[in-house]
Amino acid sequence: MAEQLRFDGQVVVVTGAGGGLGKAYALFFASRGASVVVNDLGVSFKGEGGSSKAADVVVNEIKAAGGKAVANYDSVEDGDKIIYTAIQAFGRIDILINNAGILRDVSFKNMKDQDWDLINKVHVRGTYKCTRAAWPHFRKQKFGRVINTASAAGLFGSFGQTNYSAAKLAMVGFTETLAKEGAKYNILCNVIAPIAASRMTETVMPPEVLNNLRPEWVVPLVAVLAHKNNTDESGSIFEVGGGHVAKLRWERSSGLLLKADETYTPGAIIKKWDRVTDFSDPQYPSGPNDFLTLLEESMKMGPNDP
Ligand code: NAD
Repeated sequence: MAEQLRFDGQVVVVTGAGGGLGKAYALFFASRGASVVVNDLGVSFKGEGGSSKAADVVVNEIKAAGGKAVANYDSVEDGDKIIYTAIQAFGRIDILINNAGILRDVSFKNMKDQDWDLINKVHVRGTYKCTRAAWPHFRKQKFGRVINTASAAGLFGSFGQTNYSAAKLAMVGFTETLAKEGAKYNILCNVIAPIAASRMTETVMPPEVLNNLRPEWVVPLVAVLAHKNNTDESGSIFEVGGGHVAKLRWERSSGLLLKADETYTPGAIIKKWDRVTDFSDPQYPSGPNDFLTLLEESMKMGPNDP
């Protein structure tokens, strides 16, 4: 049997840990020896209201089971206060799980600035603020783990969720760059697109599907990505839920190279459109310079046949 992953002596901050996935993460890490900051603003799934109860309930549950936890009731937009809670209570921070989130679903035609801005504030600015506050600690101790939360809606698009999709795909770019900047300091950063039964999904999925999507079944992957040994995975995107774990990556078609002169016209592209969209011999780019290298190589070989 594989050895149980433990997090003794480590401090984990879980944002939005008062319910759903965040609660499952918090209970798990506490049960495996970590000290946990249970952050939650206690808002509705649309981001309305606010209460300390959500975080308190989880902290009490952890303490009743003999674990270590403190509550924090700040919005992720005040990420520095959340990280300060970890430092004040436990003296350090090792793992940050940026999980807090809300929805403001509305068709693009009816989208209001408020729906757009609030989603971006919570998901994008909130994740930035928490990570920014934790970053100096991670760098100084040459250890850190960040797990950000994207969504299939961000990766693939989803009707009525332009605001949420844009914010969730931002988590991917943010994570990919953080991973590059953190590599030298043993800071590993990954992003998950989870699927789980929660108040966010209970109105859009039937009960028989939800029964197979317990939040606890997203936790094992997050534990692997957060652990100090076991992985050097960083800058990666995972889909996870219902017991399934898969990695996603970018795929580029073999592409079309035309001579960059007066013959390089829209018509020339249309003529070779099949080639632009041909994935039979794909590449898997992982950095912005890959394209320039590809271009250099293609130029050496010369343009595709006219
Ligand atoms: P949830 O609504 O059960 O939990 C989200 C928690 O975040 C709530 O407790 C809420 O009070 C808290 N929160 C909201 N705004 C906050 C803020 N500004 N500061 C601090 N806390 C705040 O939802 P969930 O399904 O557990 O979602 C967790 C994360 O996973 C979210 O980022 C969500 O977008 C993402 N996600 C979930 C699913 C899914 O299938 N459940 C799918 C894709 C992505």
